[in-house]
Amino acid sequence: MAAELEAEVQAIDRSLMECSAEEIAVKWLQASDLQKEVYQHLAYYVPKIYCRGPNPAPQREDMLAQQVLLGPMEWYLCGEDPAFGFPKLEQANKPSHLCGRVFKVGEPTYSCRDCAVDPTCVLCMECFLGSIHREHRYRMTTSGGGGFCDCGDTEAWKEGPYCQKHELNTSETAEEEDPLVHLPEDMVARAYNIFAITFKYAVDILTWEKENELPGLEMSEKSDTYYCMLFNDEVHTYEQVIYTLQKAVNCTQKEAIGFATTVDRDGRRSVRYGDFQYCDQAKSVIVRNTSRQTKPLKVQVMHSSIVAHQSFGLKLLTWLGSVIGYSDGLRRILCQVGLQEGPDGDNSSLVDKLMLYDSKLWKGARNVYHQLFMSSLLMDLKYKKLFAIRFARNYRQLQRDYMEDDHERAVSVAALSVQLFTVPTLARMLITEENLMTTIIKTFMDHLRHRDIQGRFQFERYTALQAFKFRRVQSLILDLKYVLISKPTEWSDTLRQKFLEGFDAFLELLKCMQGMDPITRQVGQHIEMEPEWEAAFTLQMKLTLVISMMQDWCALDEKVLIEAYKKCLTVLMQCHSGFTDGEQPIVLSMCGHSVETIRYCVSQEKVSIHLPVSRLLAGLHVLLSKTEVAYKFPELLPLSELSPPMLIEHPLRCLVLCAQVHAGMWRRNGFSLVNQIYYYHNVKCRREMFDKDIVMLQTGVSMMDPNHFLMIMLSRFELYQIFSTPDYGKRFSTENTNKDVVQQNNTLIEEMLYLIIMIVGERFSPGIGQVNATDEIKREIIHQLSIRPMAHSELVKALPEDENRETGMESVIEEVACFKKPGLTGRGLYELKPECARNFNLYFYHFSRAEQSKAEEAQRKLRRQNREDTALPPPALPPFCPLFASLVNILQSDVMLCIMGTILQWAVEHNGYAWSESMLQRVLHLLGMALQEEKQHLENLSEENVVTFTFTQKISRPGEAPNNSPSILAMLETLQNAPHLEVHKDMIRWILKTFNAIKKLRESSSPSSVAETEGTIMEEVLAGTDLATRLQSSRDKDKAERKRKAEIARLRREKIMAQMSEMQRHFINENKELFQQTLEELDTSTSGVNENSPAVSDAKLTALGPEQTRVSEQRQVVMCILCQEEQEVKVDSRAMVLAAFIQRSTVLSKNRNKVTPDPEKYDPLFMHPDLSCGTHTGSCGHIMHAHCWQRYFDAVQAKEQRRQQRLRVHTSYDVENGEFLCPLCECLSNTVIPLLPPPRGLFNRLDFSGQPNLTQWVKTVSQQIKALHLLQDEDSASSSGNSEKMDQLQLPEGFRPNFKPKNPYSESIKEMLTTFGTATYKVGLKVHPNEEDPRVPIMCWGSCAYTIQTIERILADEDKPLFGHLPCRQDDCLTSLTRFAAAHWTVSSLSAVQGHFCTLLASLVPNENNGNLPCILDIDMFHLLVSLVLSFPAIHCQDFSGVSLGAGDLHLFHLVTMAHIIQILLTSSTEENGMDQENANTEEEVAVLTLYKFLCQCTGSALKEISSGWHLWRNLKAGIMPFLRCSALFFHYLNGVPAPSELQVNGTNQFEHLCSYLSLPNNLTCLFQENSEVLNTLIESWCSNKEVRRYLEGKRHAISYARESNKLIDLPDDYSCLINQASNFSCPKSGGDKSRAPTLCLVCGTMLCSQSYCCQTELEGEDVGACTAHTYTCGSGVGIFLRVRECQVLFLAGKTKGCFYPPPYLDDYGETDQGLRRGNPLHLCRERFKKIQKLWQQHSITEEIGHAQEANQTLVGIDWQHL
Ligand SMILES: [Zn+2]
Ligand SMILES: [Zn+2]
Ligand SMILES: [Zn+2]
Ligand SMILES: [Zn+2]
Ligand SMILES: [Zn+2]
Ligand SMILES: [Zn+2]
Ligand SMILES: [Zn+2]
Repeated sequence: MAAELEAEVQAIDRSLMECSAEEIAVKWLQASDLQKEVYQHLAYYVPKIYCRGPNPAPQREDMLAQQVLLGPMEWYLCGEDPAFGFPKLEQANKPSHLCGRVFKVGEPTYSCRDCAVDPTCVLCMECFLGSIHREHRYRMTTSGGGGFCDCGDTEAWKEGPYCQKHELNTSETAEEEDPLVHLPEDMVARAYNIFAITFKYAVDILTWEKENELPGLEMSEKSDTYYCMLFNDEVHTYEQVIYTLQKAVNCTQKEAIGFATTVDRDGRRSVRYGDFQYCDQAKSVIVRNTSRQTKPLKVQVMHSSIVAHQSFGLKLLTWLGSVIGYSDGLRRILCQVGLQEGPDGDNSSLVDKLMLYDSKLWKGARNVYHQLFMSSLLMDLKYKKLFAIRFARNYRQLQRDYMEDDHERAVSVAALSVQLFTVPTLARMLITEENLMTTIIKTFMDHLRHRDIQGRFQFERYTALQAFKFRRVQSLILDLKYVLISKPTEWSDTLRQKFLEGFDAFLELLKCMQGMDPITRQVGQHIEMEPEWEAAFTLQMKLTLVISMMQDWCALDEKVLIEAYKKCLTVLMQCHSGFTDGEQPIVLSMCGHSVETIRYCVSQEKVSIHLPVSRLLAGLHVLLSKTEVAYKFPELLPLSELSPPMLIEHPLRCLVLCAQVHAGMWRRNGFSLVNQIYYYHNVKCRREMFDKDIVMLQTGVSMMDPNHFLMIMLSRFELYQIFSTPDYGKRFSTENTNKDVVQQNNTLIEEMLYLIIMIVGERFSPGIGQVNATDEIKREIIHQLSIRPMAHSELVKALPEDENRETGMESVIEEVACFKKPGLTGRGLYELKPECARNFNLYFYHFSRAEQSKAEEAQRKLRRQNREDTALPPPALPPFCPLFASLVNILQSDVMLCIMGTILQWAVEHNGYAWSESMLQRVLHLLGMALQEEKQHLENLSEENVVTFTFTQKISRPGEAPNNSPSILAMLETLQNAPHLEVHKDMIRWILKTFNAIKKLRESSSPSSVAETEGTIMEEVLAGTDLATRLQSSRDKDKAERKRKAEIARLRREKIMAQMSEMQRHFINENKELFQQTLEELDTSTSGVNENSPAVSDAKLTALGPEQTRVSEQRQVVMCILCQEEQEVKVDSRAMVLAAFIQRSTVLSKNRNKVTPDPEKYDPLFMHPDLSCGTHTGSCGHIMHAHCWQRYFDAVQAKEQRRQQRLRVHTSYDVENGEFLCPLCECLSNTVIPLLPPPRGLFNRLDFSGQPNLTQWVKTVSQQIKALHLLQDEDSASSSGNSEKMDQLQLPEGFRPNFKPKNPYSESIKEMLTTFGTATYKVGLKVHPNEEDPRVPIMCWGSCAYTIQTIERILADEDKPLFGHLPCRQDDCLTSLTRFAAAHWTVSSLSAVQGHFCTLLASLVPNENNGNLPCILDIDMFHLLVSLVLSFPAIHCQDFSGVSLGAGDLHLFHLVTMAHIIQILLTSSTEENGMDQENANTEEEVAVLTLYKFLCQCTGSALKEISSGWHLWRNLKAGIMPFLRCSALFFHYLNGVPAPSELQVNGTNQFEHLCSYLSLPNNLTCLFQENSEVLNTLIESWCSNKEVRRYLEGKRHAISYARESNKLIDLPDDYSCLINQASNFSCPKSGGDKSRAPTLCLVCGTMLCSQSYCCQTELEGEDVGACTAHTYTCGSGVGIFLRVRECQVLFLAGKTKGCFYPPPYLDDYGETDQGLRRGNPLHLCRERFKKIQKLWQQHSITEEIGHAQEANQTLVGIDWQHL
């Protein structure tokens, strides 16, 4: 069946390919009814091309469509072959000066903070780089897709609207020239025809709703072929869809994932193809399966020809988009066609039709037509305007559709608003002509219909669906913001009228919010359910900017401001009408003043936080002052209508509510209220909430008698009684035994005083005080930095942003702060300039409580440090603007003086009263403010004015009858000496001093004498206190320092105790004192061996061989970190071990693509020089008894098992894999290394003389090997008579193959040798542990060699000397690792190790028994050396001929060195470049040339001819250095010979010193000359190897030397390069899709599609993400990645371990931007990148992850393997 279908399709295809586009076009040109002709053509051919089977075949479809369908259209359009026609069009085209590039998801976009009209104006990367803005302050973001580049839009940029490229297109701008004049007339006609037909066809078919018929197209033959089409929704999850599909259409999981991915991306996908019933069946299963909890998935059974036409319809839209790219004229025609009104009148143009159908279209179709709109309508300025009008007229409907739809906004046509509304001229036009402002606000109101009886919004009991809609409706506020974002420079009368109309609508909206969500204090029981409060605050938050912008607009035009003010006042009065209903009027009187008000208690009646109308009025009131309208046109303002008590009433209630909440009176109302109060003050809301309430109170006070105000305030705070009745306070507090109530009242009094401080002191907004906007922002910054130094981003967060997301901080920060650059960690910080500290106000109104106390502490500390008194007096304030000027009188009002007097009285009598120090502190602050005020008044005194501010006089007067209290001044003098007020003394002293200064000022008329008097007072004061305070402060400092140290020690102790307590309790108890004191010593020295031991003289040091420098044995005593017992490291004592971590490593790899061999069969004996995978051992250097460790580990294991049973949590370490944390430092470990004494001494039995030379030695050893082989053969052949052979063989002299050496080590050490050996084997090969496996010793030697190699590379890369610069822990680790590897053979099978030695040696000295070994090009010589030297004792122990082990070491070393030299010479890529040697040839150069010539001879002249000994020698030296350095380290750790001092410093002649230490001649080639007898044969045999031959013939590759160190990849300096790279990267598996989480491997540079279904693969039976899978090939399980979109480094190790790490990219403020939220330009910080690289080179990634996971447990829960 399938085959038949296939054949049929192919037959059709062939016939289709024969169609001639030209012929069809000719037919069309002659047709009378073109539409009918074209439709017939499409009706016939489209179903033949599209949708011929179950799966789409896009390539075939595209090819055929071009040939049969689009081709004729192009012919028709051009009237000739389009291959000629289109280029002609292009030539005549006037390219747009607009860029218009549509952004892909994840593409970087740039906005200029200096020049962009608003933050939605963005540039593509190309335009940005060619623009002037790259030198400006810019911001970078990644696009969410959609939207386009605004380059060339003169309205988007204040400056530099064009990049270099688009500037060219503006050269001959003939304004408003019709682009059609450049097109031939007939072409215009044809274009018009074909566009009209095709566009209509596409729109008709896409908006077609019937499943079985076609619009105006006859179905040629109706076959029974249908599709079951699945549509996307935002309700069902990926998993649900995949699961359902598997059930419904019987597909595999993989297919289901494919379907789901396409549905998610394109919005629909057919999941079944067949007859109607077959498809319908699948549909019902899907619907049934998904309808249970939510609405079912949308599925439709569609006839194949409909799907076919729809596919082609989309193709046509894309085609139209590309055709108009050729010519601006064609683009204009298409716009005309699209916007032309259809036969059905209004809204019947094709563009309207599409827009209005938007929400019913699937995602893919929407994207296609949105793109077409962007490249046509939005690129043509004339039609952009017409389109904007269509859009505005449809606005209500579009929003309604969007509200019903469940797709994201980005794929809705409603999102185009940003492209239209942000264009200033369009926005202005739409406001005036289409009344857009009103439309938007009314549409918004339409969607929030849930109201209470007063008509206010009611969010309290919102359903999920309502909440969902509420979220969507918020986008309308965004539209409103766009419309308002550019402010008019000129006002027309229509604009005024329409704006005010919009303002009316806006007031209606605010009216619905005024008083919403009212609350009542809960007494008795706690509330049962937390009321919903977030919705109301979300609305407030989103509107905040709009409210501010409305005010900005009003401020621009006096007429508008006056009208708006009137309107706002009217609405406020409407809101308040009836607010006094049923509330009885009462009369308050105090100090001879009385006022009438209402009885109202916040604590008993309803109160609301939402008062946007009052607050808007407050804002406008300030503007009256700021714009001076209040002074210029007072007659036009309804100022007389204002009732100050009414204005202040609601804001005051709200502030009292805050005070009561703070006093704990609203505890039973739950957290929702606490949260609301928090947001009320929060930087996101406060500008249009808290701040404006303060302004409203300021407005009220400035218009009324301050005594009246204070009485009303006392009454609202419910404190009136306390202050109005003499001694009431005393009675109250003694009678009231309820401490809570007393406490409450105290807090309320404190809060009230604070409020008065704010009302008088907060005058830094322009219009209130005589300041400008920068003063305001400066003050904010000063107060933030008074708390502590802050990073740029912290400051930005603490400051309010305007609609352009600017805080204005950059313009002033330099004036108030100094920037301190960051180090390797942390971030750059701003520090307050010392001279700004005098502007510090302790009662700054934007401080939270916590911030206030931190700032107080910090400022007092600062003053102490500067040896100043610690008073924090109020700063001098700017004067008020005239409209507010009278409000300072509140300070000297009778009621105020009474309140202050009462509180001071309490403090003086101080017993029996409920007063608090905070209360007193606030009173002192108020006194200070009043004095400052008076002083300023006096100083600014001009002739004609009389100073009415006479505070000093008033406080000098004693109180009146009946209580006759002393004057305030007198009380202050009393308090100055009160012992209980030590803290406030400085402040009281300051007040008295200022008082005196003012008195003097009043007395004298000349201001100059004031300064003098003040000066003397200062000196007097200082003289009295200086010494005492100084002494005190230094004593304090000492104490503090001691305390700090004690604290650190305590914390450290506690931490260690906690770590060990569970397992080690008894140890600690036994050794308490020891425990503490030794911990400190532990870190400094872990082992007793000293590098510079006195036993060694400064004679020449030799590390190996018979000449080896003798080192006297040293006792090594170490201490167990667990039991604190000391012990000597000896062969026969209990084992001591080091915690160690073994891991596979590819850090040195030169071949990351190598296929990992089957671990069970892999033979690791020879390491390939590509070092593709090694085994690294690291240690934290902490020492334990083996048995202590064993007990610790068992306890960890047991605990872990319990824990896993209890609560299935993961830990940062995997106990089942033998992992644990070092008990001291929490370093991740997976085994332990035993500590051993130097092992070579144990087997070097005698002192020898007359050692054999290399030739003799090779001969002897070869004989011994031969003997062993024979013996082995005999063993294997057992009985068969091989004895003759045995007889033939003459055992070499002194060789006793039957001798079994005795193992010198204690049982415990032997056990640990096996433990560590097995662990190395297990981890290194990734196999199950098997201590018998003959590969165990090989892995141990390999790990030793590899670890030394890595350390040598690190030292070389850091340019450090070879010796003396390793951290202790690495030094200890290498010592024990080398000694362990050297001792391991004693616990393995002797014959196996002998076998390894024989094979290893055979690779250099061939024998007949070992064939097929790797050639010398394929052996890493250092690994070979280590293995040879460490396996040699297994043979040597049976050799009693008198040859020393040392001699063997030396000969092995020389032999390998020579092999390495040959290796280097063979692979050397020496180019004889121009660099010529200067001197005559040296001895070395001549010798190496001779050797090279000999090599040429051996290789049959296949070697490149080189005549320069200088180059050869230089190359050889460079190539062999790493090997020599590694060897020096190796023999140093093996034999313990101290390193010569020359190798402990950097310097010249390192090569010579190395040679000398290693017992090598300086002229390495001498080795060959000395041993030419045996070497010539060996070289010949090496060179005759067939692999070597292949290499020389150029048939294979070989590693050359020196191998360069691996580095992490090079990163670009500018982070946006990476974003761009990532945005061009598409998922490798799902054909061209953009990857959601493109992630860069920093090791090899591969870009991966991470964290996504599409790229999951199976690894060891588990599904893992692309990153995890990659680590297994690239990093042997360990990976370092950069998540590009998140700007975050990711460390991975294995499947379960991972952590995030700060990226090496910093902005100009020295901060990283994880998540790319701030968008500041980021540049590479090389030092930080180096640090990451070092972590990698040191193999510390896994350790880093462990530490991160221990510190942050949430990291443990992340499914790292899915990344
Ligand atoms: Zn651009
Ligand atoms: Zn441009
Ligand atoms: Zn700029
Ligand atoms: Zn111990
Ligand atoms: Zn440790
Ligand atoms: Zn990689
Ligand atoms: Zn993918």
